[in-house]
Amino acid sequence: MGQESEIMFEQGAIRPPNEAGSLLVRVTRNCPWNRCHICPPFKGLKFSKRPVEEVRRDVDRMAELYASRGLAPESAFLQDADSLVVPTDELLDIIGHIRMRFPSVRRVTTYARAKTMKGKSVEDLGRLREAVLTRIHSGMESGSAEVLELIRKGNTPDDILAGGLHVVSSGISLSEYIMPGVGGRRLSRDHALETAKILNRIRPDYVRVRTLAIHPLSPLERMTREGAFEPMTDVEIVAEIRLLVEHLDEMPAHFRCGDFSLNLLMQVDGRLDRDKGAMLDEIDRFLALDPERQKAFALIQRSYPGLLPLEVAEDAPVMEEAASEVRRLEASEPDGFNRAIRALMTRQLPPLPGPTWPD
Ligand code: SF4
Repeated sequence: MGQESEIMFEQGAIRPPNEAGSLLVRVTRNCPWNRCHICPPFKGLKFSKRPVEEVRRDVDRMAELYASRGLAPESAFLQDADSLVVPTDELLDIIGHIRMRFPSVRRVTTYARAKTMKGKSVEDLGRLREAVLTRIHSGMESGSAEVLELIRKGNTPDDILAGGLHVVSSGISLSEYIMPGVGGRRLSRDHALETAKILNRIRPDYVRVRTLAIHPLSPLERMTREGAFEPMTDVEIVAEIRLLVEHLDEMPAHFRCGDFSLNLLMQVDGRLDRDKGAMLDEIDRFLALDPERQKAFALIQRSYPGLLPLEVAEDAPVMEEAASEVRRLEASEPDGFNRAIRALMTRQLPPLPGPTWPD
């Protein structure tokens, strides 16, 4: 809830990192699907569509607040997880109202599920584009049917393809989010190859990389304990990303690891038609390190999430100190190092709203 004395309006839990400066306008609450095994922020929370009048009132209150502070945002982001479930005419009304109250807003963006994008006609998407809905962010995660089923994504590869093509054909910019590691060891190859295949057909503007971290209360954690899911190591995930990049066409799409600190190699970031070779070279430099250095590098990056240049692996004193911690963790319990890394990664996940992860 945004709040300033008596000025109040609703805000949702999440937005893409590059929308940090955007006006956040909540048009629905939570996620209409909400069953994926990978995603904590809406679990246990009921989905609802907000009446247009209520959203307009929020925009009015935000306009008062921003005016009182002399702020003029250039972009707005429609929350929460799947705003395209709102009928097109209602979305047009809301976007029109945002632009009336905030003439400085030049672009509006949102999240949407593949099935919902598929359900919107290209014509309706075109009307939204004309109203300056300029970009849609969509959590594809994988192009593999088996992986999508495993994580209960509720979309098939055909849904992802059709939804993505609708958006691209309408002229709206598309960001597809993919999740290395999410198929576990068994499905890793299928995950990389099928994901590349679908992305090559959709040709989105952005491929944003979101390495899997397993929430301790999630079904994937339970499946890991039961042996039904085999989490991959950092080195295996980097090799999976290499396979994916290798099979992606040299298209004018940004391949971005740099905007998410759960990606071990955030420096693998560039345009596929321009930088694919350089990105593969950077991955190969990591894969060529000896195993002890790879683990020491991973431990440093997981302990201090952020962009870590590979040159760190040449710094002998830093590497020796990290390597001795790696040895201590390995000796502490079976699979001790990998468990410690996974625990460090979960710290970066958004919080679960309640005490349990509902089925
Ligand atoms: S990943 Fe997306 S579709 Fe799945 S529960 Fe989370 S917000 Fe909903």
